[in-house]
Amino acid sequence: MSAKQKLTDVLIIGASASGLMCAIEAGKRGRKVTVLDHANKAGKKILMSGGGRCNFTNMEISADNFISHNPHFCKSALSRYTQWDFIALVNEHKIPFHERDLGKLFCDVSAKQILDMLLDECKKAKVNIQLNCSIGDIEQLNNNAFLIQTDKDLYKAQSLVVASGGLSIPKMCASPLGYKIAEQFGHNIFPTRAGLVPFTLQPDDKKQLEALSGISVDCHVSNDAIAFKENILFTHRGLSGPAILQISSYWQPGEAITIDLLPELDVAHIIKNRQAKQANIKLKTVLTEILPKRILPALLGDTIDKPLQELSNIRINEIAQNIHHWSIKPGGTEGYRTAEVTLGGVDCDELSSKTMASNKVPGLYFIGEIIDVTGWLGGYNFQWAWSSGWCAGQVV
Ligand SMILES: Cc1cc2nc3c(=O)[nH]c(=O)nc-3n(C[C@H](O)[C@H](O)[C@H](O)COP(=O)(O)OP(=O)(O)OC[C@H]3O[C@@H](n4cnc5c(N)ncnc54)[C@H](O)[C@@H]3O)c2cc1C
Repeated sequence: MSAKQKLTDVLIIGASASGLMCAIEAGKRGRKVTVLDHANKAGKKILMSGGGRCNFTNMEISADNFISHNPHFCKSALSRYTQWDFIALVNEHKIPFHERDLGKLFCDVSAKQILDMLLDECKKAKVNIQLNCSIGDIEQLNNNAFLIQTDKDLYKAQSLVVASGGLSIPKMCASPLGYKIAEQFGHNIFPTRAGLVPFTLQPDDKKQLEALSGISVDCHVSNDAIAFKENILFTHRGLSGPAILQISSYWQPGEAITIDLLPELDVAHIIKNRQAKQANIKLKTVLTEILPKRILPALLGDTIDKPLQELSNIRINEIAQNIHHWSIKPGGTEGYRTAEVTLGGVDCDELSSKTMASNKVPGLYFIGEIIDVTGWLGGYNFQWAWSSGWCAGQVV
């Protein structure tokens, strides 16, 4: 190991959402904090989040918006550092923001303002951030201090905080380091998989649905576990859009999803009504009033050219069934390449829900996405990063 040893109270691996929040809080307590990151820039995922506007939290946060093997674990942290606390910080920094559908809060101008705010707070708290830093061996000494070898220095720290995130978007510097550290120190890890991710399609469906690329519809998408009412988007690769991303986190390979393309309407009733008044008009004339025209052939084939008078009640009910219960079996997901989050991770039952401290190894902490807590789309994942990072920051 290198001769040059640097002492720090707290060493945090990962200079992004959870790591910076933890650093700020620990620094404010007078702790000497060092944050290491192998990226050339802090907070890359913050910068790319929310289409560049960062959906930084949500007006309505509850444990129901999170997926975990222990659904109660997130409650303590989310109630100790709430969305209102983060909104207060955003207001303090005079960052303009707005509310979108379902309580999502976005910056008016740029996600960079959120990162700048965190970096500004880090500066005030005298946090030392080292970028372009490759992390090597980590060991714990008899006195519980940690030795962390990097390509530049050897650090000795009383507390080690793993804030290295999940596996999503390797191009944005995601790596499995945190899981390896958890494993090294005897922590159980639930298998990881991509979440909030577009679906790919089976070859036949792909051929049929490719023509719909670019169409978006407000839908009700469900499987046996859950239902979401948001937008879906047909793409040249498959299915995307908020409702699809949401259900992808609850999807298992081989399962079908059901799409209700017109959740607010009773299609059978609409067709039968029109049939009574205008029996000569074609089915597609009626349906293009309520659905995008391009979607109809894929959904109903030649039937769309039939005049309403040729449709029996049974056929009308079948047509309505196709529209309200369109079953699609995805071929798979686009995987970590485009996923917004990683499901699974460090087992919550081996951490303190109040402080994120390891129950097994004194001085070791895990925060943010690396833990087996995954939020829905809508600002929940950042709120988890802020809340878990804040909680660890009070004690490290
Ligand atoms: C495209 C996209 C858009 C998103 N938009 C939103 C949104 O609008 N709202 C929302 O709530 N969530 C959003 N998310 C999810 C959100 O970004 C993450 O849940 C959140 O950033 C997790 O924070 P974290 O601190 O745990 O991990 P990360 O933000 O992933 O940070 C981990 C840090 O660790 C560093 N690191 C990794 N491996 C190593 C290593 N080996 N050595 C040193 N450093 C390492 C990384 O460089 C990174 O800086 C989005 C995600 C993506 C991919």
